[in-house]
Amino acid sequence: MKLRDLKQEIIKTLSGTDGVLRPSWEASLILATCLGVGREKLVSMGEEDVSPHVALEMTARRAKGEPLAYVLGTMDFLQWNFLVGPGCLIPRPETEVLASLAAETLGPRGRFLDWGTGSGCIACSLAMMVDGSQGVAMDASPGALKWAWRNVQRYRLSNRVLLVHGSSAHFISQDLTPFDLVVANPPYIPSEHMGELDGSVSRFEPHLALNGGDGGIQVPVEWLRGAVRLLRAGGQVLMETAGDWQLSILEALEIEGLSFVGSHQDQFGVRRVGRW
Ligand code: GLN
Repeated sequence: MKLRDLKQEIIKTLSGTDGVLRPSWEASLILATCLGVGREKLVSMGEEDVSPHVALEMTARRAKGEPLAYVLGTMDFLQWNFLVGPGCLIPRPETEVLASLAAETLGPRGRFLDWGTGSGCIACSLAMMVDGSQGVAMDASPGALKWAWRNVQRYRLSNRVLLVHGSSAHFISQDLTPFDLVVANPPYIPSEHMGELDGSVSRFEPHLALNGGDGGIQVPVEWLRGAVRLLRAGGQVLMETAGDWQLSILEALEIEGLSFVGSHQDQFGVRRVGRW
């Protein structure tokens, strides 16, 4: 099939799909991914004969509402590109701010814990941004750790980022502690609001990575309490939150051994990240 015709067919299918805002752009991404070429290269390939099967399969998944990142199998995060798919939360742009703050906070050769690592995007980018740093990337979901492991291997970080399957501080062996920094993008959506998520999020992304329990703070509070036993004296926690209203609750909590230091806005002007 000629690439030009295949692209038209993909655009036609995606034009009728809810949530697809730019069918032509998505068609180019799907084709570039299938053919293993940059998008700019496609322009001159219109007359070339290509096999349509993989591209049409990807298009069919997208047409059923699956997030584009899962269909393509990758998501950009800071200056890197992470492998993603069903089982891990798709990295969000707000979280780039969290990772950058973590990199500014962690000194060279610092030791960090990325609690709830998901795809591993925070742990891997942090290790790559801070010379000689080492960290533990923990997640309760084996399905997420599979993606984190792929990314750790992809960026050759297996000697600096250790993956741990676990859901609490107890899963971190004593000899890995203390950490200079605990960084986390915990599940923080209030259980009572889970029903309001976009269909493509709620039908496809792991609820374990999203549902923060009552008020969305049950899990964040548990993790803040757990972090106390893992940090060195003077160590810090950086945690992403749902925003100003949730940070106001978290910053007012009394947690023994931890004091609130301040907060940071994300790139959209939302007070997003708390520092303890
Ligand atoms: N920011 C994500 C969303 O709105 C939620 C991520 C999280 O709970 N950590 O879908």
